[in-house]
Amino acid sequence: AANDLRAKGKVLLATVKGDVHDIGKNIVGVVLQCNNYQVIDLGVMVPAAKIVETARAENVDIIGLSGLITPSLEEMSFTAGELEREGFRVPLLIGGATTSRVHTAVKIEPRYHGGPTVHVLDASRAVGVASSLLSDAQHDEFVRQVREEYRKVREDRAASDGSARERPSLEEARANRLRVDTTAPVPRPCFLGPQTFAPYPLAELVDYIDWTPFFQAWELSGRYPAILDDPNVGPAARNLFADAQQMLDEIVTKDLLEARAAVAFFPANTVGDDIELYPDDRRRDVRAVLYTLRQQISKSAGRPNLALADFVASRESGVADYVGAFAVTAGHRLDRLVAKYEAAHDDYSAILAKALADRLAEALAERLHERVRTELWGYARGESLDNESLIREAYQGIRPAPGYPACPDHTEKRTLFELLEAEQRTGITLTESFAMLPTAAVSGWYFWRPESRYFGVGKISRDQVEDYARRKGMDVAMAERWLAPNLAYER
Ligand code: SAH
Repeated sequence: AANDLRAKGKVLLATVKGDVHDIGKNIVGVVLQCNNYQVIDLGVMVPAAKIVETARAENVDIIGLSGLITPSLEEMSFTAGELEREGFRVPLLIGGATTSRVHTAVKIEPRYHGGPTVHVLDASRAVGVASSLLSDAQHDEFVRQVREEYRKVREDRAASDGSARERPSLEEARANRLRVDTTAPVPRPCFLGPQTFAPYPLAELVDYIDWTPFFQAWELSGRYPAILDDPNVGPAARNLFADAQQMLDEIVTKDLLEARAAVAFFPANTVGDDIELYPDDRRRDVRAVLYTLRQQISKSAGRPNLALADFVASRESGVADYVGAFAVTAGHRLDRLVAKYEAAHDDYSAILAKALADRLAEALAERLHERVRTELWGYARGESLDNESLIREAYQGIRPAPGYPACPDHTEKRTLFELLEAEQRTGITLTESFAMLPTAAVSGWYFWRPESRYFGVGKISRDQVEDYARRKGMDVAMAERWLAPNLAYER
């Protein structure tokens, strides 16, 4: 109770339904607590009804919603609408990787008139925003400014939508696809179908860790290793890094986390914008179809409108091509580790453990991809790259992840997981929004060809959405919901 009296305000934090990300939100929570706010963290995958109920029961002063993956954007708008319906007037803060000021202004604020809605770019700004919102002196001016800013964002967007550049039709975009060189011999993977690599030895992963995103997770910006000597953040980065090394060493020597992986390869050929996967080299039966999306921005001469399907030889070429799939995690046992630290009120170590599990999962994805190139698929047997070159992706082939810009449809993870038997082999499950659990997990496709590269599908027109929905056997409204961030038109 004494704590209550001193608290500057009560903040409710929740990661929305379907999403499991929480490092950023954890840091917001810790930062707010350090600044004397009382924080109620409802955890992850929180349905709107639970947020409404708790906000009312606890009479909170601020509600903060967080989400990492694109389906969370829709869930946040929905939750904002629910707060409106329930007559709330509490400020609503929006944060997390895929959120933005534009999305908040265009899709969330208009659903919630009761209180101000504010996008919080990173944890370090949460305190400033909270204190402005709860200060009698600053509240009105702060809210007026934010509302004005968001109104302008909406106006600018409406104006630019009207003058939207001419987009090629799907048919025109397809005619401008990339044609890969199908004269070169195609390397055959060492096995077809799925294989398990579990438990994967953690010690093998340490040298594959990319540390730069680790510092980003703590909002220390700069590239590793230079960040350790940065005049501003250097001392903080060095302390954090030393703590991380110590915990990592303990994790590895005592097996405090468990890593697992699954890899699969399939004979594959492209038909239109679909990649057909076959169970065997006869290529008669179709095992599954990978549905790809094509860029529909107008391109300058000589630049193709890409789809991932372009990176696989077409069926009519008669070339026997292949595609791979993977899912990895380093998150098993993490909950237990985090619970131990939380029980000791050591939030710092709890967040550190989560961040390290994420790093190990990414490192496993990197190491496994290397093994795919040099051994399991073996199309680059002579490759020998150091960690820095791996991080720069100085190798042949890509591993695009569903939900990322080249394949923004998260629902394709259903096919990916089914092909890999990922749940049985790795213990990774998918939430209703296709977030992976444990959170420290990475999955994607392997393309081997030297022409393959990462790109963004960007905005697509109605003709493609309708075509895509038809191919997938999904109704158009459903496809529009999953592709919401990529629609070049208003639903
Ligand atoms: N070294 C980084 C690797 C992760 S980010 C780390 O440790 O965090 C790079 C990964 O994101 C790629 O390997 C790929 O899986 C995915 N990715 C990046 N850009 C992509 C795009 N345009 N389309 C699909 N996947 C992409």
